[in-house]
Amino acid sequence: MTSTKPLALCLTDVFKQYGDHVALDGVSLNVPEGSIFGLLGPNGAGKTTLIRMVAGITAPDSGRVEFYGSNLIDEDLNNIGYLPEERGLYKNMRVGEQALYFAQLRGMDYHEAKSELTTWFERLEVDGWWDREVSDLSKGMAQKVQFIVSILHKPKFLILDEPLSGFDPINAARIKTEIKRLRDENGTTVLLSTHDMSSVDELCDHVALVNQGKKILEGEVSTLRENARAGRIDFKFRGNLIAFTAALGASAILHSVHSYGDNVNEMVLGIPTNTPIEKFLKWATSEVDVLSCSPRKISMDEVFLRAVNKAKR
Ligand code: ATP
Repeated sequence: MTSTKPLALCLTDVFKQYGDHVALDGVSLNVPEGSIFGLLGPNGAGKTTLIRMVAGITAPDSGRVEFYGSNLIDEDLNNIGYLPEERGLYKNMRVGEQALYFAQLRGMDYHEAKSELTTWFERLEVDGWWDREVSDLSKGMAQKVQFIVSILHKPKFLILDEPLSGFDPINAARIKTEIKRLRDENGTTVLLSTHDMSSVDELCDHVALVNQGKKILEGEVSTLRENARAGRIDFKFRGNLIAFTAALGASAILHSVHSYGDNVNEMVLGIPTNTPIEKFLKWATSEVDVLSCSPRKISMDEVFLRAVNKAKR
């Protein structure tokens, strides 16, 4: 199902080459307003190249980059927040002084920036660090400061390149909460590039998968998961395995089976996608003693691996 929401970002047939290496090969992308959009792909796939185009750092050789319906122009950059993968704080400046400097670069006045920074420093527990030098910050602390700097001017579009790398689980959870809050309370659209598939499962409502400069998958996470599930269900029963598999006939495909003894069997079945699980369950209950029956959960990790392997083939 295609989303009908207005688009915050639309890339059409974008192409980028470095020397004779094609980094992006005709990529088109639709990022709906107010979504957390995961940009996924193996190392070297072209994600950073794409992100840098949206951040106005590089230009495509050909193709269009539209921001809220018009060609992306320099003025749009005030509405974009960018947390780059390579962190870039000046080591010898004081933390607060530097955060103020970046905020003012993004058009905030001193007093507004100071007040917002104070709030954010408290919220992310870096408030004791205002007068310390950046070189004293731990990796996670420096990352928190950069995260704050990228969102302080309340951009309507936020680009986060590996925002969770370097965080311990508690701080990663805190940052994930803030990302969701930005979407839910401010309507911020987030373009999130990451290799951390559990955060994709947790945060993203849409994803695109790029491989060797080409987009190989795009859509709503729920739809992609459902497609990848392809009617698979986890089914456990007590009864005669041979009789049951014979009775299954063409109504389901048997993917795997494990027998525990005492006539208890567990299997993964693929029922036709147009057959409701309830209908299958009703039939199965008349054949065997059903112990459990549930749609198989597919992680985005599995969706990702299948799509990349399919592209390789
Ligand atoms: P990763 O997940 O490892 O960060 P990525 O998906 O972000 O990778 P990119 O950094 O966009 O990938 O790189 C895509 C390809 O383009 C790579 O083969 C890279 O070596 C090449 N590339 C990127 N930038 C340049 C550049 N400035 N000059 C030459 N080649 C480049």
